[in-house]
Amino acid sequence: MNTKELDKTYVAGTYKRFPVEIVSGKGSVVKDPSGKTYIDMGSGIGVTAFGIADDVWQKAVTDQISKVQHMSNLYYTQPCAELASMLCKRTGMSKVFFCNSGAEANECAIKVGRKYASDRYGAGRHTVITLENSFHGRTLTTLAATGQDHYHELFQPLTPGFVSVPANDIDALRTAAEKYNAAAVMIECIQGEGGVVPLNAEYIKEVREFTEQNDIIMIVDEVQTGNGRTGMLYSYMNFGIVPDVISTAKGLGGGLPLGATLISDKCKDVLGFGDHGSTFGGNPVCCAGAISILSRIDEDLLESVREKSAWLFKTFSSAPGIESVSGMGFMIGLTTTKPASEVVAKCMENGVLCLTAKDKVRLLPALNIPMDVLGKAIETIKNACV
Ligand SMILES: *Cc1c(COP(=O)(O)O)cnc(C)c1O
Repeated sequence: MNTKELDKTYVAGTYKRFPVEIVSGKGSVVKDPSGKTYIDMGSGIGVTAFGIADDVWQKAVTDQISKVQHMSNLYYTQPCAELASMLCKRTGMSKVFFCNSGAEANECAIKVGRKYASDRYGAGRHTVITLENSFHGRTLTTLAATGQDHYHELFQPLTPGFVSVPANDIDALRTAAEKYNAAAVMIECIQGEGGVVPLNAEYIKEVREFTEQNDIIMIVDEVQTGNGRTGMLYSYMNFGIVPDVISTAKGLGGGLPLGATLISDKCKDVLGFGDHGSTFGGNPVCCAGAISILSRIDEDLLESVREKSAWLFKTFSSAPGIESVSGMGFMIGLTTTKPASEVVAKCMENGVLCLTAKDKVRLLPALNIPMDVLGKAIETIKNACV
C-alpha cells in the first residue's frame, strides 16, 4: 500500500486530508513525492514559525537531542529553565507551566483560574465564561470551553462549569459572570478557528477592566495568535492590556509539540507541588527549539511581519473575487466570492497550500517568508479567486 492507502486504512478517520503527501521542504516551500513544490501558506496551522527544516531551529534541536532528549520533571534541565525565563522577561509574567499542546495549555490556565478563585473565595466560584464562536481545544474540558455547539453534540456530558456569551457584548459577559459567580473569563483576541475574527479593541479593554474590578481571572488563549503571529509577540499586546494568564502553543515549538501557560504575579503561587504536571512538559529538545524561535522573534522580525501584512491587506482588499480581508499580522482570513474550498483546491493545483477557517480562506505563512515567495503565493491566490 502507498502512504495514502495505509493512512486511510490504519489512521483514525478524524482528518479530512487534502490529496497531497509532503516528503520534504525548506523554509516556506515543501515538496511532494513527485518533486512538485508548493508554497506553504499554512505553516502546519501556524506551527512552523520559521518554516520547514529551518537551519537555526534544526541545529538547536539536534544539538540538544545529542545531549539529552528527555529527563523526567524530577530533575532540572537548562532549556526548560531558560525558556521559562525568556517568556517571563518578554511578557512580564512570573511563572510558566510547560505542556505539549494548546488544549493542555488551556487546561492548565483553567485550573489556575479555578484554584485562584477557590483559594480566595471558597467553593462555588468555578464557572469559566468563554465566547461564542471560540475554539479552545479538543479535550473534554476545552471542548466545554469552546463556544461552538457542533463540537459538543456527540460527546456529552462535557466538563461542567462553562458558559459562553456573545462576543463584543460586555453586558452579556457581565450578566453571565454575576449570575454564575465566575472564576475566570477566557478569550482569543482574534478567533482563529472561528474564521479569523478579531474582537473589538474596545471590548477587549472592557473585559480587562471588568475582570480586574471583580477579581475574575482573565485568560487569553494565544495558542494560534501568539509567538509573533499577529505582528506582536502576543496578540494581547496589540490591545494595551495585560491578562492574568496566557496560554500558548502552536508556533512556540517551531514544529515540535510544546505548550506553555504563562502565569502573572497575582496568580504565581496558585499552583504548588502536585497541583499539576506533565510527563513530557518542558522537554529539553522542544524547549531548545523554542529558545531558537523566541530569540529570533525580535522587534525587527515583528516589524517585518507588520509591513508584509499591511501589503497583503492592501493587495487583497482591491483584488477581484475577494470581498473582505480580516485578521492581523500573518493571521489572515479572506472572504471570497467563490467558495473557500474551491479557492484552496485551485491554489493547491497551482502550487500553493492554504487553509480554511469556517467559510474563509485562511493564511498563516511562516514569519520569515521571503518577499519574493510571498509575492508568488499572493499572485496564485488572487488568480484562484476570480
Ligand atoms: C489550535 C488551537 C487550540 C488547540 O491546540 P492543540 O495543540 O490542537 O491542542 C486551542 N486554542 C486555539 C485558539 C487554537 O487555535
